[in-house]
Amino acid sequence: MVEEGLLKEKLGDSLEAKISEKQKAFSGLLTREGALKLIALDEGVAKRGQAKASEILPLAQALSQNDAFASVLVRVKQVYCAREFDKEGRKGKVCNVAVGDSSGEGKLVLWNSDVDFAERKLERNSCVKAEGLAVKNGELHSNLFSSLSLETAPFGLPDYGTATVKLSDVGEGRDFYARVSSKGVMREFERNGDKGNVLNLVVEDDSGQKTLVCWGRNAVIANFLKEGDVLKAEGIALKNGELHASWMTHLIAHAKKHNLKELEFKPFASLAANETAFVQATLEKLFEARVSRKCLSCGGVVDGEKEKCDCGGSVRETFFITTQAKDEAGRQMRMVFFEDQARELIGLKRTFVSPQTIFGLKREFLEGKTLKMKALAQQRNGGALELVVKQIRSHS
Ligand SMILES: [Zn+2]
Repeated sequence: MVEEGLLKEKLGDSLEAKISEKQKAFSGLLTREGALKLIALDEGVAKRGQAKASEILPLAQALSQNDAFASVLVRVKQVYCAREFDKEGRKGKVCNVAVGDSSGEGKLVLWNSDVDFAERKLERNSCVKAEGLAVKNGELHSNLFSSLSLETAPFGLPDYGTATVKLSDVGEGRDFYARVSSKGVMREFERNGDKGNVLNLVVEDDSGQKTLVCWGRNAVIANFLKEGDVLKAEGIALKNGELHASWMTHLIAHAKKHNLKELEFKPFASLAANETAFVQATLEKLFEARVSRKCLSCGGVVDGEKEKCDCGGSVRETFFITTQAKDEAGRQMRMVFFEDQARELIGLKRTFVSPQTIFGLKREFLEGKTLKMKALAQQRNGGALELVVKQIRSHS
């Protein structure tokens, strides 16, 4: 960030002390960025209102005004994946965005909270008004006093829009929409001393399924998605037939204007044993919330008093809720929520109140509610099918 660099030059090591002093003065409610903003004003490194002062310039002209502040109205050509850094205890994020207007093309460098704007709001061909950017070495940098907003594109801006393609036709650099059919676990890796994240998704559209490997911030974004959600990838990379959301890719979670078929919810009557499907059902009755205690070696049920099984094996505790659900056709089924799904059902966050107590409080509220879920149909002791809930998509 521009001001942080200038402040560091001016104040040296006392900058950190000044930041915590400011934060203390605001009872800890002030972010690091907010504190820097106030210090920049105190120290005369920045002027209040500097962001608004400048008129909109053609991009080429803005880029030629080194060490000045400038405002532009541009179209997004590509949002690149953001990078997280941790330099001498300073944590932050930075993201490059390729932009253009009728005068030419250039690079926006967005810092920290402006990265959130890029990740959540910007898509290829978005029109952005960026005011009070600092011009440094032929790039436009966001700073504490700049502002970004989405605008309706006026006539005359270049058009960077590209058609999305089907998964079966995806090539290097292309854009596509796809639905998440399964999600792996986010892992951390280290390369050349840099730490990063990686997460594998399997995605699908009506042309088929593909593996999508998500790197860095793209893994973090992908980790917010649930199975069944739609994503958009802009500027995908290809390697050995796999799709990679790499440094050049912009991953958009919860893409709205997609062209995919809506998620299908299956009626209970059509479910086969061992099938996992999306269902929509009303909870008619919540029977009980319980913790089962089973031995990990012999599989036997272990008494609540005992720490270990008689066979010496250790005990696994599983929290679960049993219910009776009804689908839209009126068909009833027993439905079980285990562990995370059970906690999500009753809205249980980390708390000292027992799950059974919360269950007692929430039961009346939940009975009669309709939920969208992903569930596994399972044969119960050789008898009727019951549903084991794998994911709660929505309460409605
Ligand atoms: Zn045992």
